[in-house]
This record gives sequence, C-alpha cells and structure tokens, in this order.
Amino acid sequence: MVRLWQHTDHKGCSSLIHIHIISHFCISFVIFIILFLPPVIERLQIKQHTKMSEIEKVHCFIIGSGPAGYTAAIYAARANLKPVLYQGLQPGGQLTITTDVENYPGYPNGIMGPQMMVDFEQQAQRMGADIRWGMVTKVDLSKKPYRIEVDEEKWIEADAVIIATGASAKWLGLESEDRLNGHGVSACAVCDGFFFKNQEVAIVGAGDTACEEALYLSKLCTIVHMFIRRSEMRASKVMQDRVMKTANIKVYWNTDTVEVMGEHKVDSVKVRNTQTNEISIIPVKAFFVAIGHEPNSGLFKGMLDMDEQGYLITQPGSTRTNIEGVFACGDVQDKIYRQAVSAAGSGCMAALDAERYLGALEHA
Ligand code: NDP
Repeated sequence: MVRLWQHTDHKGCSSLIHIHIISHFCISFVIFIILFLPPVIERLQIKQHTKMSEIEKVHCFIIGSGPAGYTAAIYAARANLKPVLYQGLQPGGQLTITTDVENYPGYPNGIMGPQMMVDFEQQAQRMGADIRWGMVTKVDLSKKPYRIEVDEEKWIEADAVIIATGASAKWLGLESEDRLNGHGVSACAVCDGFFFKNQEVAIVGAGDTACEEALYLSKLCTIVHMFIRRSEMRASKVMQDRVMKTANIKVYWNTDTVEVMGEHKVDSVKVRNTQTNEISIIPVKAFFVAIGHEPNSGLFKGMLDMDEQGYLITQPGSTRTNIEGVFACGDVQDKIYRQAVSAAGSGCMAALDAERYLGALEHA
C-alpha cells in the first residue's frame, strides 16, 4: 500500500510538473504572439510594400540593341513613349561582329558594323531613349502590366514590350573558322560577298539560305564551291534546281569541312569526302557559313507563338504578336530577309504599332 501510494504520489507530482511546464509554455507563447507578432507582420507588410513600390514602371520596354531595337527606340522616343532599352550581352548585336557594311543606305562610303551600331545608339540617346546595359533574364507576359526581370535581380513593369532580340548564325565550331571570322569567314553572303568579287569562294550548307547565298555569290564570284554534308539538299526543290543549273556553282556532295586555312586571311579550305575519306584542299578567298540561324526567342517559349524553328510569329503586315501590347521586330521574327535595313524598318513598325496600342489604352 505504502509503495503504491508512494508510486502514485510520485506520478501525480511529475504530472503536476508537466502541467506547470506546459501552461508556462502556453502563457509565454501567447505573450510572444501578443507582443511580437504584430510588429513582425507590420515589418513584413512594409517590406512587401517597399518591394512593390521599388518595381520600376516603364511605358515602353525594348529588348535588344541591333538595328531593330535601336530604330524602335528612336521612333518610340520621338513619340514620347519614354522607351527604356536593355542592350543584352552583345550591345549592337550581329553587326558588331562584321566589318564593312556597304549596303545600308545613307553611308555612301560604307561603314564598319560596330561604328554603325554606335551611331544608332547615339541617335536613340539623342532622341531621349534610356539605353541601359543589362540582360533580360525572365519575362511574365501572362498579365498586364507585363513584367520583365533584368540581370536576375530587378523587375520592371511595362505597358508595352518590343522584342528585338535578333538571331545568331550557327557556326561549324572549327577553331580556324573562329580565328578567321571577319578575315574571309562570314555568315552573310549578302553583307560580305561583294568584297570577293571576281574571286573563288566556298559556302557550306544545303538549306534555302545556302542556296540563296550561293546563287547571290555566283553573280559576283568566278566559282562558288558548295559543300553539302549529305547526298541530298534540304532546300526547296526550286532552289535546288536553280543551284544545279548555275554553271559556276560547283557542288560537293558528302563533304565535310575539316579546316579553313590561311594565316591572317582565308586562302583555302580543307574538306573530306565522307564516303571515300579523301581529303582535298580547295583554294578560295572566302568561306561562307550558311547552316542556319537560331532566333533568340528562348525567353518567350510557352508565351508567344513561334514556328518550329523558334521564330516569333507576327500578324501579317504588322509587328503584333499573339499577346496584345507585345511586338516583335528584326531577325527574331524574320527568317527570310535578315538584313540590317529590313530589321531597322521593322523596328520602326514596332514602335509605331506600340504607339498606337498605348494611345488606344490611354483613351480606353
Ligand atoms: P536550314 O536549317 O533549313 O538548313 C541548314 C542547312 O545547313 C542544312 O542543309 C543542314 O544540313 C546544313 N548544316 C547544318 N549543320 C551543318 C554542319 N555542321 N555542317 C554542314 N552542314 C550543316 O536553315 P536555312 O537557314 O537554310 O533555312 C531556315 C528556314 O528559313 C527554312 O525554313 C527555310 O526554308 C527558310 N528560308 C526561306 C527563304 C525563302 O523563302 N526565300 C530563304 C532562306 C531561308 P542537313 O540538311 O544535312 O541537316
């Protein structure tokens, strides 16, 4: 009995201690909630509020700094849309990796590509465009105003967005191709073919672009050596026929480019027949790469309509995309012309489209 009582008494005592501890904890918790939670919530709300008010608001946001982006900026600034343009990693775009540009109207003596882009930028700045160095890393076009993340840290809200992110030429990936780029190696026959007038040149590729560029070169150059890696071309039948019927285009089937040769400028190309493994060295003054382009449209996947190659689709005769207030211009939506002057023209169209859209919004 005594033992039992003692045991019971011990148990009761420890239960009392537990109750005491728990009630003490509960009281402390309630005091904590009463005293500390409201200020914490308030601080969080203030922080949230501050974050929201820190988001910059922009009327017209332009992504990209090639001829399309800068021209859009010039027109948008003159229309008082107060455009903000983010240049991306390569301010000036593809033209900054070319040399002479002789086919852009207004430069009677030609101009170096990088200088032309500096001129475009300065003109846009003089008109009042806010040109900034930075990379757009994310976009949210699901609701208005559209949200754009820059450099993975700053969000900007925009009423209208003009996309001018361009396209990048695909390269073979040879060390020699990279070393001689701009010294006889080019990804644009229309831009650089003229410099090799009356000379022998080579081109690699078998799509519509390669055929078109080979035909263009055939009118300027003595012989165009065309390297095709398979035993057939990908190009449309009509383009293939034209190439095959052109006497000074020499087609090499099943042929891989091994090396572009020359110390300071191209003097020949080493190729290999993939069936026979035979190596040939063909003397040429220029080597054109026409194996396709990659539109810089990855940011907009799942949001904007694009074709199977990733080119943004715009409504015919305009720069409107499938989302209202979002416009696309330049090479990111043009796989056919791809010229500085046509990109600039479509940049102008995008700014005019944006102006009309924003004007209608204000009067809605
Ligand atoms: P494509 O992707 O159609 O063709 C690329 C060509 O390059 C293919 O023949 C491919 O060979 C070849 N190629 C790719 N990688 C290599 C490599 N490493 N070595 C050798 N050859 C390689 O690109 P295009 O720029 O020609 O055309 C893109 C789109 O634009 C197409 O839809 C085309 O029809 C269109 N376009 C229309 C024009 C017009 O209507 N006037 C003008 C220009 C383009 P393979 O076939 O073996 O894969």
